Amino acid sequence: MPRAFSFSCKRCGNCCTRADGRVRITEDDVPRIAAALGLSVAGFRSRFLNPGPDGSWLVRLLPGGSCPWFSREGGLGACRIYDARPEHCKTFPHWPEILEDDAAFAEVRRFCAGIEV
Ligand code: SF4
Ligand code: SF4
Repeated sequence: MPRAFSFSCKRCGNCCTRADGRVRITEDDVPRIAAALGLSVAGFRSRFLNPGPDGSWLVRLLPGGSCPWFSREGGLGACRIYDARPEHCKTFPHWPEILEDDAAFAEVRRFCAGIEV
């Protein structure tokens, strides 16, 4: 049965700044984000990405775990590449590994202010 909850992002920024977070990038994301940053695909990969599992890429996070494109505007979290952000970010928290796993869902509820059950 689908998990019932409502979601409305409160821009707390916790998902973009977690010490143990990961930001996955697919091959489809790469050219769009590279263009948004004004970089070549090769330059974007070498500056921002590490190889990840299953052919994906992982964003090289800043010390402490923050995404390099995260910022704060008037106390609210903001993404500097919002229009081009990874599919991984667009679809959070509606990921199968969260929705289908009670422990994972409980962990996301702990840090995501936007989920209400
Ligand atoms: S790309 Fe944007 S939305 Fe995704 S983790 Fe980074 S700052 Fe957050
Ligand atoms: S943790 Fe949840 S509420 Fe906070 S910025 Fe991320 S999606 Fe929005």
